[in-house]
Amino acid sequence: MENELTSEEIHRKVRALMPEVLDDLRCLVKYPSVAFPGYPHEPVNAMADATVAVLKRYGLQDVRLLNIPGGFPAVYGEIPPPPGAPTVLLYAHYDVQPAQREDGWETDPWTPFEKEGRVYGRGIADDKSGIMITAASFRIFEGKPPVGVKVLIEGEEETTGHLEEFVIAHPEFFQSDMVIVVDNGNLQVGDPGLITTLRGEVSCIVGVHSLDHAVHSGSFGGAAPDALVALFRMLASLHDTRGDVAIKGLRSYTPVNMEYPEEIYRQSAGLLKGVEFMGTGPLSSRLWSKPSLTVIGIDAPTINAASNILIPQASAKISMRISPDADADRELHLLMDHLRAVAPWNVHVEVRKVSDNPGFICPTDGPGFAAACSALETAFEKPARKMGAGGSIPVLRVLHDAVPHAEFILWGAQDSSCSRIHGTNESVDIRELERVIVAQSLFYQLVRKGDENAHLKKTGPFSP
Ligand SMILES: [Zn+2]
Repeated sequence: MENELTSEEIHRKVRALMPEVLDDLRCLVKYPSVAFPGYPHEPVNAMADATVAVLKRYGLQDVRLLNIPGGFPAVYGEIPPPPGAPTVLLYAHYDVQPAQREDGWETDPWTPFEKEGRVYGRGIADDKSGIMITAASFRIFEGKPPVGVKVLIEGEEETTGHLEEFVIAHPEFFQSDMVIVVDNGNLQVGDPGLITTLRGEVSCIVGVHSLDHAVHSGSFGGAAPDALVALFRMLASLHDTRGDVAIKGLRSYTPVNMEYPEEIYRQSAGLLKGVEFMGTGPLSSRLWSKPSLTVIGIDAPTINAASNILIPQASAKISMRISPDADADRELHLLMDHLRAVAPWNVHVEVRKVSDNPGFICPTDGPGFAAACSALETAFEKPARKMGAGGSIPVLRVLHDAVPHAEFILWGAQDSSCSRIHGTNESVDIRELERVIVAQSLFYQLVRKGDENAHLKKTGPFSP
């Protein structure tokens, strides 16, 4: 292969590029690109334009906005492959979760700041770091990576999106040999892992009616069922006494054979002292392969508005994470049927579907996975392990249908221990970001060379 870089050269180039990468990342964080309904569109569109500009500056000349009907545009770009080289599709997203200082942020979420080797700000890890990893990997090769690339950076990953219909209608945009989803990360900084499974997610709203109007709880309480009490009994039936999901027939996937250190989980979850874990089985299987269920909202009178009445109606929104290999529609119907079946006192129950997103399983026996393991090992100076992830990325399933032969690599600089994606004080570790840029650059060379020599020639150990 022409102009091949040694791993040491890649390390050195990435290190030299980091100040510019961090400057650009900080600029991107200043756009509150929340694509949720009800939020202003202007910053989301401005962020899309800024993403195009950054990618162009780092070497992706052919980049533009794709109109996604009904939604925010996606950023799309291409570098054609050198003769005989494979094409890698790179996925990230530029929209972010909402954030307000009052939620508990130490500083303004849209004004990035650096502390002890980490940079803080909403979206800095999820997933604006993914944009910068992608951009930086092009600069390492002066805009001419050893593989062909297609870049897809969507603007509606965090909300109800419209990209899936676009992918189904235009699969030609996404034809590639491998897909890298740069929207993930390691359990902890410096400890590389490759995600091989993602759980799916289904949700529904259950409403309970028991009376046609509110009545005095002194005059009527004791015989007429209160809708809120009935709802709570139904919700309580969703877990058994050990904390496992108690809905019959749900699937559980074979767990990823990895020990998830309890201390990391406790610390990153912010679990209070003395609070016990719920559920049974290894932590990794509880988080990655078994179903889990949460009540994410309840509509009922607030305490301030409470009066001594029997409440005639109440509702709850329930979200369930499902096994990576489960049929989302089937699991959702098991949940909905369970709710109908457990309603006490014949109260009236209405259950409405909200979402049914399937999980995802990445094959691990192809040359892409081998190259990704090797690239991580060189970048982190530590072998990579296989792990699962509890969250879901809905567009993966349609991308997989569009390019069924492509291997999927899921990685990124979002560490589970400290990044707090979707939470307050979101951050990214600067060294971790650097190592993932190194890994992604190495990956291009490794897949280009194929598996006959999947280990880069080394000129000597890189000293950090
Ligand atoms: Zn994300």
